[in-house]
Amino acid sequence: MVKIKVNNENVSYDASANSLVSKYTYKNSVVSLESDGNYVVNQTSKDYQFQVDLQVPKVGLLLVGLGGNNGSTLVSAIEANKQHISFNNKEGEVKPNYYGSVTQSSTIKIGVDAAGNDVYVPFNSILPFVNPNDLIVSGWDINGADLSKAAARSKVLDYDLQTKLATTLSAYKPLKSIYYPDFIAANQSDRADNIFNLTESGEIDQSSKWAHVEQIRKDIQDFKAAKKLDKVIVLWTANTERYSALIPGVNDTAESIIESIKAGHAELSPSTIFAVASILEGVPFINGSPQNTFVPGVVQLAEKHNSFIGGDDFKSGQTKLKSVLAQFLVDAGIKPLSISSYNHLGNNDGFNLSSNEQFKSKEISKASVVDDIIASNEILYPKSGETKNHVDHCIVIKYVPAVGDSKVAMDEYYSELMLGGHNRISISNVCEDSLLATPLIIDLVVMTEFLSRVSYNDLEVCDSSDKKTLYPILSFLSYWLKAPLTRQGFQTINGLNKQRLGLENFLKILVGLPVSDELRFEERF
Ligand code: NAD
Repeated sequence: MVKIKVNNENVSYDASANSLVSKYTYKNSVVSLESDGNYVVNQTSKDYQFQVDLQVPKVGLLLVGLGGNNGSTLVSAIEANKQHISFNNKEGEVKPNYYGSVTQSSTIKIGVDAAGNDVYVPFNSILPFVNPNDLIVSGWDINGADLSKAAARSKVLDYDLQTKLATTLSAYKPLKSIYYPDFIAANQSDRADNIFNLTESGEIDQSSKWAHVEQIRKDIQDFKAAKKLDKVIVLWTANTERYSALIPGVNDTAESIIESIKAGHAELSPSTIFAVASILEGVPFINGSPQNTFVPGVVQLAEKHNSFIGGDDFKSGQTKLKSVLAQFLVDAGIKPLSISSYNHLGNNDGFNLSSNEQFKSKEISKASVVDDIIASNEILYPKSGETKNHVDHCIVIKYVPAVGDSKVAMDEYYSELMLGGHNRISISNVCEDSLLATPLIIDLVVMTEFLSRVSYNDLEVCDSSDKKTLYPILSFLSYWLKAPLTRQGFQTINGLNKQRLGLENFLKILVGLPVSDELRFEERF
C-alpha cells in the first residue's frame, strides 16, 4: 500500500494518541443581496483543528435485507476478494476486484510533480480506512434462505463464482427480522418466513414495537460480543417501504417517537424501528432505500444521542448520471426543459416497486435530484416572470421479470439552445443493478467508519481540549445517496461533482494538503 508523508506546518503526528492533527482555516464568502439588486460579499474565516484517530478498528456490518440481491452480492464480493477467488465467464478468467467503489478503485490527486504534472494516489491510501475484506458481515432478513441460496435466487453472479462461493455463502444465515406487511408490497408476503414478531399463536405481532427495538438492540450487542468487534454499522438494504405519514405527537420529536413505539403505533415502519434501535445502541445507521425512515423524531433522537445517521437511497445508476448531466447542461448555459426517465427491471426490488405505494417512495427520491442544480441558475430559470422556470421531470419504473437484475434505464434530456433551438440527448444504460449498488454499500460503510474517527475543535469558540465529532447527519455520504438527508436549515446538494469535491477536500485538509483548485499556474504563467 502506498504511503503519503506531507511535509508542512499544517499537520503533525500525535504519537501518544496515534492520531493525525491538522489545522485548517475555513474561508468563505457571505453574500447579501442589497435593496438596489446588487450583491455585497464579505469574507469569513474560522480556524479549526482536526484529529484523525489512525487506528483502524475491527468493524462489523449488519445489513437489514442480508438475503436480497444487494446483501448476497456484497457478501459474495467480500468473500471473493478476501479469498482471492477467480472464476471463469464466457470471456475467460475474471479476478475479483472492487470496481465501482470510490474508496477501493478510484484515485485522488495529491499534487503535481516537479514538472507541474498531476500526481494521483489510490483514494484509500490517503488515510487509513477499513479494508472491506476485513469487514465482518451479518444481518437480518425476513426470508431465511442462506446466502448460497440467496445468491442463486438473485441471479447476479456468474454461475462459476456462485459454485466456488457456495460453501462459504451457505454459512451465512440471516437473523430473524420484523415484518409489518403494511409497509412493503403485498407481493413480498411469500418471502416472510424468518420473522420474530409472531405471537404465541403464530400471528404477526405489529404492536409490541418496543420489544422489537429491544430484540434488535440485543442482536447488535450479541454480534459485537461474539465477533469481538470494536464498532458496528447497521445499513438498510431491505425492500423499499411506503412513506410513513408524519403525525404531530407521534413521530415528530425524539420523545414522541419513543412514546409511540412503546404504544405500538401503527405508523412506525420496520426501518424506523431499526434506526431507533441503532441510535439507542450508538451505532451508525445508513438507509439505502428511498422511504422516509428518518422521520423528524428519528433525526432528533440521533442528535440527542450524537449517533451517526445517513441516507436516503443508494445513488447508483440513472440518478448518478442525472446529477452529472443536469449539472453539465445547466453549467454550460443550456436549459433542460424536460428529463424523462424510464426504467424496467426484473429483480425482487422491481417486483416490490411494482406496487404503487412503494413506487411513490422511489419517485419522490428520484425527483428531487435536479432541484439544487436548477436553483443555481436564475438566468435559465428566473424565479418570477413568464419564462418556464422548472424542468418537467417524469419517472417511470416497470417490472419486467425477464430482464432480471439487468436493469434498463432510458433517459431523454430535452433542452433549449440559443435562439429557440433544441437539443435532445438520449441515454440507454443496461447493467446488473446489484453490481452497481454493492460497491456503494462498501463506500458508505468505509466512509461512515472513517468519519466516526474524525474529531475537531473550533479554535475560536472552545478550548482546544474540547473535541467534537461531526454533526450526526453524515452529509459527506451524499455522493452515494439519491436523496441526501440534510441538516435542517441547509440546502441539499445533489450535484455529483460538488459532492465529490467536498469529500476529497475534506480528506486533503485532514492530512494537511491544500484543497483542490485546478489553478495550474505552473502551466499558465
Ligand atoms: P431485494 O428485494 O433483492 O432485497 C431486499 C431484501 O430485504 C429481501 O431479501 C427481503 O426479504 C428483505 N426484507 C424486506 N423487509 C425486510 C425487513 N423488514 N427486515 C429484514 N429484511 C427485509 O432488493 P435489492 O435489489 O437488494 O435492493 C435493496 C434496496 O436497495 C431496495 O429498497 C432498493 O430500492 C434499494 N436500492 C437499490 C439500488 C440498486 O440495486 N441499484 C439502488 C438504489 C436503491
